[in-house]
Amino acid sequence: MKSYITHLECTKCEEIFSCDEVHQTCPACGKVLYARYNLNSATQDINKTILKNRNPNMWRYFEVMPIKDEANIISLGEGFTPLLKANTLGKHIGCSNLYIKDEGANPTGSFKDRGLSAAISKAKELGEEKFSIPSAGNAASSMAAYCAKGGLLAKVFMPKDAPEPNKIESILYGADLNVVDGFINDAGQLSREVSSREGLFDVSTLKEPYRVEGKKTMGYELAEQFNWELPDSIVYPTGGGTGIVGMWKAFDEMEKMGWIGSKRPKMICVQSEGCAPIVRAFINGDEYASPWENPKTIAAGIRVPVAIGDYLILQALRESYGTAVTVSDNEIQDSLRQITSLEGIFACPEGAATLAGLKKVLADGIVAQDEKIILMNTGTGLKYLDLIQLQDR
Ligand SMILES: *Cc1c(COP(=O)(O)O)cnc(C)c1O
Ligand SMILES: [Zn+2]
Repeated sequence: MKSYITHLECTKCEEIFSCDEVHQTCPACGKVLYARYNLNSATQDINKTILKNRNPNMWRYFEVMPIKDEANIISLGEGFTPLLKANTLGKHIGCSNLYIKDEGANPTGSFKDRGLSAAISKAKELGEEKFSIPSAGNAASSMAAYCAKGGLLAKVFMPKDAPEPNKIESILYGADLNVVDGFINDAGQLSREVSSREGLFDVSTLKEPYRVEGKKTMGYELAEQFNWELPDSIVYPTGGGTGIVGMWKAFDEMEKMGWIGSKRPKMICVQSEGCAPIVRAFINGDEYASPWENPKTIAAGIRVPVAIGDYLILQALRESYGTAVTVSDNEIQDSLRQITSLEGIFACPEGAATLAGLKKVLADGIVAQDEKIILMNTGTGLKYLDLIQLQDR
């Protein structure tokens, strides 16, 4: 198979860079770089019919993925996760067309695997062998696993309040774990410092161009699993926002290849009351989000006070006529028990936040009850056992 990647392009200043050398953020303006493809030509090799015979993982979209030589793919079977109709939960909240995309079924139990399979594979293709990552939880486990599989060196930097299982996993996968007395942005700072000192490649969210390429496959999958008819609303627990901007990018690419029309789902961003920089910026009508002081929530994956892709997230929310809402940790706990007991899916707190958020946008009338709605359950609840309450409060 052949990748139709052509170059990297800055999402802000539009400057163009080579995809055959290592890049992180835009050397000109410091913003996010995106991979671009020759989509007209890609359709010679990939189309809806050909896809039917491909393997059920995210590399089935190889032509619109950034790796040039298939031999460089480091895979644990990530992607093509179940898209489950949630009839009982739907009835419970009055929705007739509710679905859960269960990303807990990924190799290390979260959708971080998509991004890190893509980023580590591409960096290895370009000659990198030593990696570092700051992580609030799942990204560390995931990077450590892909580095183990690829025989590569991994250093992870985690705030001390990151879930214990993620720390244990990182160590068992053979990574060097550094626990940081601070928040995810402090871990990020240290990861950058150590990387430049020791020659490691730092794969922080959206600070290199390829994690988003892995995450965008959720958008391709949703279209394919729904027989090329996108849903009406997608509810997404937003931290760094790679998934939301990745799906948005995928919709664009699919339209250019003639696979879907111009209709887009409403993109609905859910954050925690205790850490809601994107919601605040959305409500204020700002282009960028200012940092959130003292981030606090049990949902570690969305405990992210600063997002470099803030302008991209806000743009997707606005262009899609979506919205951004906050939920409390108590609402997350209640929703977690509902998804789990009514649907048999052990949701993570971030995934549960999407149900709590959905209840709010239904009440506000932003989403209608008969819409085709997707809740993104971004990981498995099994990694949060110590945080989950069993009793009613
Ligand atoms: C990282 C993470 C998120 C947030 O993802 P972004 O794409 O960075 O916004 C949500 N849920 C879980 C379980 C995560 O690990
Ligand atoms: Zn730029």
